[in-house]
Amino acid sequence: MTGDPFALQTYSLLDDEDCEARIRAAKEALGERLVILGHHYQREEVYRHADYTGDSLKLSRLAAASHARYIVFCGVHFMAEVADILSRPDQIVVLPDLAAGCSMADMASLAKVERAWSELSAVLDPDAHITPVTYINSAADLKAFCGRHGGIVCTSTNARDVLEWSFRRREKVLFFPDQHLGRNTGHRMGIDPEQMVVWDFDRPLGGLTEARIRAARIILWKGFCSVHQMFRPAHIDAFKERFPDAKVISHPECSFEVCEKSDFVGSTEFIIKTVAESAPGTRWLVGTELNLVERLNTQFRDEGKSAHFMSPTVCMCSTMFRIDPQHLAWTLENLARDRVVNRIQVPPATADQARVALERMLKVSP
Ligand code: SF4
Repeated sequence: MTGDPFALQTYSLLDDEDCEARIRAAKEALGERLVILGHHYQREEVYRHADYTGDSLKLSRLAAASHARYIVFCGVHFMAEVADILSRPDQIVVLPDLAAGCSMADMASLAKVERAWSELSAVLDPDAHITPVTYINSAADLKAFCGRHGGIVCTSTNARDVLEWSFRRREKVLFFPDQHLGRNTGHRMGIDPEQMVVWDFDRPLGGLTEARIRAARIILWKGFCSVHQMFRPAHIDAFKERFPDAKVISHPECSFEVCEKSDFVGSTEFIIKTVAESAPGTRWLVGTELNLVERLNTQFRDEGKSAHFMSPTVCMCSTMFRIDPQHLAWTLENLARDRVVNRIQVPPATADQARVALERMLKVSP
C-alpha cells in the first residue's frame, strides 16, 4: 500500500457508493475545465456521470467541439485517440483505464495492413485501384495509413456514405478491421457477395487468388467483434417462436445471417432512436452490447416496451467494462489537483495523417 492518497491502489479499495460521492465532488470542483464523454456500452455507474453520451461518431464530433481543458473519455482506447486527434493542442484527453482496448481493433495492426498493401501490389497498384477504409474501431496509426493512401475512416452510422465516397475515387476498397460491417454495408449497397472477399491476414495473399482479388470490389479484413459475433440466427428464431410479434434490431457488427433476419440494422444511435420511436408495448430483441440493451429496457419500461438481449449467454464488452467508478474517481480527483493521469497522446506525425482520414469522414458525413 502506498502512502499517496491519490494513488490508484487507494481507490481500488473504495466501494461504488464512495466513488459516486467522490466523482460528483471532483466534477463540481473541476467545473467547466472538464467534460466527460460516455459511450453507450459503459456500465450504468459510470455512464450516469457523462456530460455527453453517444456512439463513436457523435462522441468524436463532441470531442472536437468541446472547450474543456480535460476530456475524460469513458470508452475504449481508440476513441480517446480520436478525441486527442480532433481536439485542440491545449486540451488533454484521459482514458481512466489504459487497459480499456478493443479486441476488434487489435485484429488489425499497422504491420499487418502494410504487409497486405504490399502483397496486393503484386496483383495491382493499390494506390491507384484501392481505397483503404478503416472502421473508427482501429488504432491511430491505421487511420494515419488511410490518410497517407487516399483513404478514410468510417463509423457504423456512415459506413455506406463512406463506401460510396470511396467507390467514386477507386474501384475497390480494402475494409478493416471488421468484416461484418463491411459485408453488411456492401450487401445493402447491392454488391454481389462474390465480389466481397475475406482477407485472411495470417495467410499469403490473404488466402486469395489473384483472380479473386481482381474481381473483388470489397476486400474484407478477417476481423470481428467478440461481443457481436455471439449472436446467432437461432437466437432470433427461438425468440420469434415465443413472441411472433417481436421486432428484431441488430448492430451491423453482427454476422450477415443475423442482420438478414433482423427487422432493422444500424448503429447504437440508430438502435436507441428506433426503440424510442416505436409504438408503446413493442417487444424488442436487440443484438448489441448488454449495458445498452439493459438501459433501453429500463428507459422505456414505462411505455410498456421491453428490450431483450439477443444471446442467452450474458456477455458484455469486457474492455468497456474496465472503466469502473474506482478508475473514474481516481482520474477526476487527480485532475482536480492538476495531476494528469492516463493521458492519451497520439504522436504528432501520426495524428496529422490520421486527422486527414478523419476529416474526410466528417466531410462525407457532417
Ligand atoms: S463491443 Fe466489440 S467493437 Fe465495441 S469496443 Fe467492445 S470489443 Fe470493440
